[in-house]
Amino acid sequence: MRDFIPTPILKNTDKCTPETKVIAISGKKVLVTQQNGRITLPRLSDMPAGSIDTASGLAIGKLRDEECAGFIFTGKEDERLFLLEMRSAFTMIPPGSCYALCRAKSLLEWKKRRNFCGACGAALVPSENDIAMKCPVCKEPFYPQLAPAVIVAITKDDKILLAHNFRFQERVHSLIAGFVEAGESIEQAVAREIYEETHLNVCDLRYVSSQSWPFPNSLMLGFTAKYHSGTLELDGTELECADWYTPDNLPQLPEKGSIARMIIDDFCSEKRFFD
Ligand SMILES: [Zn+2]
Repeated sequence: MRDFIPTPILKNTDKCTPETKVIAISGKKVLVTQQNGRITLPRLSDMPAGSIDTASGLAIGKLRDEECAGFIFTGKEDERLFLLEMRSAFTMIPPGSCYALCRAKSLLEWKKRRNFCGACGAALVPSENDIAMKCPVCKEPFYPQLAPAVIVAITKDDKILLAHNFRFQERVHSLIAGFVEAGESIEQAVAREIYEETHLNVCDLRYVSSQSWPFPNSLMLGFTAKYHSGTLELDGTELECADWYTPDNLPQLPEKGSIARMIIDDFCSEKRFFD
């Protein structure tokens, strides 16, 4: 049985009950509670009055057969309910709950910004058939847009290439990554991004895994590749520094919860993704 079954159409939360599981989002954080030492989502009956705007809520789906709804959280934390960074939550809750969380975050962010038709300017209404907003005047549909991004672990013998991007927190080194651009295949995006940022060429590109990254709307596609040719030379605009590292001599890594960290951890221990 699938842990999480998404709601197939855009629906508001008019059928909430006190038992409904609540995904209350505040920026990049989600409201959680603890039960028997485990992090879990609160129920509607746990929510302090006025802490969520029920009118802006969305039905998200069924999580292990329980209705689940997403809201923007505007209340305050208390001794039972506290805000947790979503990326930390990814390491503490089951995959089905992560799915529900990412879907809620993506849809709430999208809906907040998608109120008017980009073609004629009319106010949009929810589509009755799918996850979309629709223009009642010119009939143009508007779907949530995903921004696919590639992230790739390049290896050379027993070393992995890790780089510090100007946008990262101080000293954090991670994999080479970038958005897929218009007209590109995934493979072309990987090759372009690596060459632009490092002047390296790679071979043996292999898909590893993907991760929804709703900050605000990315889909991360993870790969491994082997160094083929070229001399490491940084573009100077995105990467501040980059180098080859062995597992016993690593720089500061991204926090656990991201696909980047999962692939780096795999390289350092199990090597399931690497030959
Ligand atoms: Zn229109």
